[in-house]
Amino acid sequence: MFSRYFGKLKQYVSNLYHQDESRQIFQKRMLSVVLSVIAVLMALINFLSGDALYGGVMVFYFGFVLTSMTLFGKKSLETVATGLMGISSVLVLLYALFFGSDNLTTLLWLAVIPSLSMMFLRLRWAVTFLSGTFTFLAVLYLSPLADWLHLPENPAFPRWFFVAAHGIFAVVCGTLEFLRHLTDLRLEESRKEILRLSFFDDLTQIFNRRSFDASLLKLWNNPAQTRKMTSLLMIDIDNFKMYNDNYGHLQGDKILTKIALAIRSAIPSDRFTIARYGGEEFVVLMPETDEREAIEIAELIKETVGRLELIYFDSNESVSKNLSVSIGVATQQMAELDSPETLIRIADENLYRAKRSGKNSVWSATDNLPHS
Ligand code: GH3
Ligand code: MG
Ligand code: MG
Repeated sequence: MFSRYFGKLKQYVSNLYHQDESRQIFQKRMLSVVLSVIAVLMALINFLSGDALYGGVMVFYFGFVLTSMTLFGKKSLETVATGLMGISSVLVLLYALFFGSDNLTTLLWLAVIPSLSMMFLRLRWAVTFLSGTFTFLAVLYLSPLADWLHLPENPAFPRWFFVAAHGIFAVVCGTLEFLRHLTDLRLEESRKEILRLSFFDDLTQIFNRRSFDASLLKLWNNPAQTRKMTSLLMIDIDNFKMYNDNYGHLQGDKILTKIALAIRSAIPSDRFTIARYGGEEFVVLMPETDEREAIEIAELIKETVGRLELIYFDSNESVSKNLSVSIGVATQQMAELDSPETLIRIADENLYRAKRSGKNSVWSATDNLPHS
């Protein structure tokens, strides 16, 4: 029961801080206007009841904030107003220190007014400030300084009442801030996870298609690369459907991950982007790499996958086979292509030739013979 209410409270605080920006600004402004109107009225009462200094300062301040906010809605004016409020608060504190405070509101205003001002800028600063100030005031009431400062003593309320009141305010504000902090941590974790998922393939933990497309486009748009040789490998696992049919998709998933790792281990440079292009297809994008080097790397990948010795039963031919890959190689200058997709198309055509020639082989464009 308690955890349900706690959960609801957390949700409410989280919504207050994390709803979409325009709504948040609107709500903050409305809140500020309502609070300002109340504050102006209270300031006026303060002023009329004889606390001229602080009452005057507050009327001026809130008049300024209200006018600037409602008429101009300018952030810079709110900042100036907050600065003025900070200065006036220090002046009032000095006043209270030297002449003593004979009225409770002066001290309360010291806590409430600057935090209201901060609300215009950042809600979380306001809550943190409130929590800190109320803790400070609670401790102040407990300390011998309370007498020296002539802190307000109302016969109707014993001192412990003031300590408790400030303590409760401090705890409420502190809890609000703590809940917000928890929500922030959770949001930050989700943000990182979303970022990771948007770049990486969840199953194999290598880059995904989207990252590959972005890398290819970046290379295409890089003037320093357009006249250099770029190579692309398109890698496809042979007879993988049969593997899945025989051993199930879960086992197939494990194999996909193993093969992705094997490909990565065969890639000599972190300048190269290796990504999962689709189901059981991978790509390796290699800037500044000529065809000879690209073929060497493709051969190395093929051998590395072969060495994994992933044996399966080929039900068509009734023999056991080692799982293999076919690789199509494309090597071009970007300047010679009409679009970056052409590089993919060339690699794809060569992959198709590798498949047609019996699989487990590397094909490139320059000759009509497989390289292995
Ligand atoms: P080929 O040698 O011509 O490439 O034959 P193939 O069976 O590998 O090719 P095909 O395109 O007919 O089938 C690809 C198979 O890859 C189909 C599907 O079962 C499997 N596959 C694709 N994505 C995944 C995946 O994420 N997990 C698993 N386990 N299998 C997948
Ligand atoms: Mg395929
Ligand atoms: Mg395949």
